[in-house]
Order: sequence, then structure tokens, then C-alpha cells
Amino acid sequence: MKTISNFSLKKINSFNVESIAPIAYFPSCIDDLITLSTLGLSSFYILGEGFNTLLVENESPIIIKPEFKGIEIDEQADCTIVKAAASENWHEFVGFCIERGINGLENLALIPGSVGAAPVQNIGAYGVELAQYCQEVLWFDFETQSVIQYQHKDCGFAYRESIFKKKLKNKGLIISVTFCFPKKWSANLSYAGLDHLPASASSKDVMNAVIKVRQSKLPDPYKLPNAGSFFKNPVIEYERWQALKSKHPTMPSYPQADNKVKIAAGWLIEQAGLKGYKVNGVGVHEKQALVIVNYEAASGKHIADLALYIRRQVEEQFNITLEPEVRAVFSKGEYNLTEYKNG
Ligand SMILES: Cc1cc2nc3c(=O)[nH]c(=O)nc-3n(C[C@H](O)[C@H](O)[C@H](O)COP(=O)(O)OP(=O)(O)OC[C@H]3O[C@@H](n4cnc5c(N)ncnc54)[C@H](O)[C@@H]3O)c2cc1C
Repeated sequence: MKTISNFSLKKINSFNVESIAPIAYFPSCIDDLITLSTLGLSSFYILGEGFNTLLVENESPIIIKPEFKGIEIDEQADCTIVKAAASENWHEFVGFCIERGINGLENLALIPGSVGAAPVQNIGAYGVELAQYCQEVLWFDFETQSVIQYQHKDCGFAYRESIFKKKLKNKGLIISVTFCFPKKWSANLSYAGLDHLPASASSKDVMNAVIKVRQSKLPDPYKLPNAGSFFKNPVIEYERWQALKSKHPTMPSYPQADNKVKIAAGWLIEQAGLKGYKVNGVGVHEKQALVIVNYEAASGKHIADLALYIRRQVEEQFNITLEPEVRAVFSKGEYNLTEYKNG
């Protein structure tokens, strides 16, 4: 198995901060995973392409970076089954499907990262989530050294959530993801920015429109280092939402199941007066307040400090606690940013 000591992660985290891994393993087959599981590693971090990862310290834990490649297609009467290996690039995979007339993932175009990370937070955009098409996740379990098939119903998918982020965290890794795309398809144009398209739009038209909107709204991580939305959009009880809405009638809100309402974290940050705020070379993006941008190669710690400051300000003003979407990685492993600070 490819192994590198003192491995710099600067080029594989989209905040572009320097952090050195004492050792990085690059498993590319099941035998490599069996070898890894016999090493008894106590703390490590599984890294995809680093677009949802904040390396807080100059030293990272041991890194496991899977290198599983390949895409398989199985045509069936009423659907197309596609299995993609974890280390395929997500956006290229979306393009691969759309070019072959396999429709479904067009609204998820241009989300940066790997296929293997996509189920972890159940990536979503423009009214579609991965969970909608994910049939099965192939998982390698370190303890039993075996491959386990997690069917859709066992993946615990919810808004930016899955079993892989919770119960299974650090217990193994995703090898591949299998999707089921029904042949009967119609474009999902429910989101603003897509509603100008005709109902007859092809999946390629939708994908191109999504790319255009995303490029106009979000800072390009290759030019302005960032990890997309830093916080999740909070989901609150209807009664609490009513009280807030009466004070802030313009607050954007999205009704959910179970008598709950999702509100826009970006709006809360903007209302707290932090849009465009900058400190220590890090800032809240001028157009999109949910995105923290590393303007001047600040350290991961400066980014974490700003995130916690934003959280406190929103808490003070709205009594709502923002939960980070970005994974915070310290030298001893991945922790919730706030738990680590507190202890
Ligand atoms: C500009 C920008 C826009 C974005 N827009 C969106 C968006 O619209 N919607 C959205 O949902 N997200 C969005 N994101 C977040 C990001 O694209 C996704 O979270 C993506 O899935 C990250 O992939 P990655 O490979 O870079 O993950 P990483 O940052 O490398 O890892 C993320 C998590 O997945 C785990 N992981 C990675 N690979 C594996 C594996 N094989 N097995 C087990 N665990 C694994 C890691 O341990 C970590 O917990 C955006 C990010 C950026 C920078």
C-alpha cells in the first residue's frame, strides 16, 4: 500500500491551510484495508478531496486517503443502476451520467469532492439530495475486516446527516456508492434560479443552469479558499419560528415535516452584521454570508476562531445555535469544533 510520512495536506484541503500528517495511507484494494485494520490505529481521519474539512492545527492525525476508482453501469428495464467507487470525483461522475443520458444527479452538479464523501453528509442542492438516488453503500468494517452492504433504508439519511457521520464514524470507510436512476424522469425545477427553464428541459440543460447559478453565487475554492456552507441551516420548532417571524417578517424559511421550519443560517449571520466581516486574514464572504473564506493563508486556528465567533454572535442575537457542517480536524482526530474548545 502506498504510504507517505510527513505528508503535507496543504493542496488537499479547500481552505488551503498547511497541516502535516505524521503518516498518510492510500489504500486502493481490500487487502490494503485489511492491512490497515491490523495496525490498531487509535486516531486517524479519512480524507476524500478535503472540500468539507477544516484542518485546525499544524499537525493532523494519521490520514487514510482511499484510492478506489471505477464506474460500472447495469441497464435494467425501468432503471439504470450505476456503481461508482469512492475516489471518483463527484462532479465528473455527475457529468459521466448525464453524457450517457442517465438522469437524476443534474441538480447536484459542481458540488466539489469525492463520491465516497457524498453519502457521509447526504450532499444536497437545488431541491435534490443524494439520498433520493442512493441504493446502497459498500462499507469496509475495520473491526470484522469485512465488506458490508448498507441498503438505503439503513443509511440513516437526513438533512446533511447519515449513519456514516454518526454511529459508523471511524469504524471503517466507504468503498463505493450504488445509485438507482429510474428511466421515467422529469426535471426538478422547483428552486429559484432554475424556474426559468421550460418543463421540457433536458438533464443537460438543468446541469448547465445549475453550474451557471453556482458559479455566479459561490466563491470558487481554487481562487478564494473556502469549504462551502460552514454551518447547517437550523431546523426549529414551528412555535419558535412563529415568534421569530413576527419580529423578522423578511426571514427566509422553509417548512419541513414534523411541524418544523428550516431557516437560512446565512440570513442569521447577515442579520448579526457579519457579512463581509474580516479578521486575521479570514472573513465572511461578501456575497454569501454562510461561507467563510481564507483570504490570506491564515492558519486553520484563525478560521476556527472566526467560526466560533459567528456562532456566539448569532446565539446572542437570535438564541439559535448554529451547528457546523464542515468537519473540524485536530492533531488528535475529528471533533466537534465547540466540544474541543470547551474541553
Ligand atoms: C464551494 C463549495 C460548495 C459546496 N456546495 C455544497 C452543496 O451545495 N451541497 C453540499 O451538500 N455540500 C457542499 N459542499 C461541501 C462538500 O462539497 C461536500 O461535503 C463533499 O461531499 C466533500 O467531499 P470531499 O471528498 O472533499 O470530503 P472531505 O472533506 O475529504 O471529507 C468530508 C467527510 O467525509 C468523510 N469521508 C470522505 N471520504 C470517505 C470515505 N471514503 N469513507 C468514509 N468517510 C469518508 C471524511 O472523513 C469527512 O468526515 C461545498 C463545498 C465547497 C467548497
